[in-house]
Amino acid sequence: MAIIELKNVNFRYGSGTPFEKQALHDISLSIEPGDFLGIIGHTGSGKSTLIRHFNGLLRPDSGQVLVNGDDIWTASKDIRSIRFQIGLVFQYPETQIFEDTVAQDIAYGPRNMGLDEKEVELRVHEALQFVGLNDSYLERNPFRLSGGELRRVAIAGVIAMRPQVLILDEPTAGLDPEGRNKILNELEQFRRESGTAIVLVSHSMEDIAEHVRNVLVLDHGKIALDGTTSAVFSQAEKLVQLGLDIPQITKVLLGLKAKGYAVDTGALTLDQA
Ligand code: ADP
Repeated sequence: MAIIELKNVNFRYGSGTPFEKQALHDISLSIEPGDFLGIIGHTGSGKSTLIRHFNGLLRPDSGQVLVNGDDIWTASKDIRSIRFQIGLVFQYPETQIFEDTVAQDIAYGPRNMGLDEKEVELRVHEALQFVGLNDSYLERNPFRLSGGELRRVAIAGVIAMRPQVLILDEPTAGLDPEGRNKILNELEQFRRESGTAIVLVSHSMEDIAEHVRNVLVLDHGKIALDGTTSAVFSQAEKLVQLGLDIPQITKVLLGLKAKGYAVDTGALTLDQA
């Protein structure tokens, strides 16, 4: 069964005001256990709005959001418990770190879930390992860590709640290429070992093409393309029409070609890279 299912979801900001803006149009999709889904699209295409529907931060104007088969907006559902099941890591999550030690910071979420201290300790240790940091970090002051380490501590805080789906909004924004690759490889390993589904929103088509299995392209609040990474990225001309960055598309296509995939480059000449 799908963990998250959206059925014909529509959403408007500022409903009934002169600033009304339809941000999602008739979105239907599902996320299954173990999935690795990438979401791309130009700025303002609806990516952030969409992922905020996955864990009940936003409520659709019409349509349904189901988690494990249940509509999360029926009166009997506790939205708070949905937020433990569907973990959302915001852009620049390190700005939300406020505890004095790494251990306390990662423990914040599991403690809020009402777990006993022994279980909290276990989760903190496990989450730290998943993000590639050892126990020597536990008592360190988060604000003395490097940017990449701090980002990983913030991600560990969500992993420690053992969500069924981990959603990350631009998890590598602002990091250097080495830091980016480290985080993406750790996420990939975490997904394989834990079976947690991952949804990755990214501006970087290269990161998406390199790491995820399926891609969804949003355009003006609608799903414009959807399929396996190679199938979506091989439709170069369509991606260009959707306003995505040509040099990035070119690099992704060159990478796919090198791996032996047939790519439809349309009017795009690959020596533009
Ligand atoms: P993306 O994450 O792809 O950049 P968003 O989901 O942030 O896109 O935005 C989708 C659309 O909704 C854009 O047109 C944006 O201007 C609009 N929007 C986003 N947030 C708000 C808000 N709080 N109030 C009004 N309009 C908004």
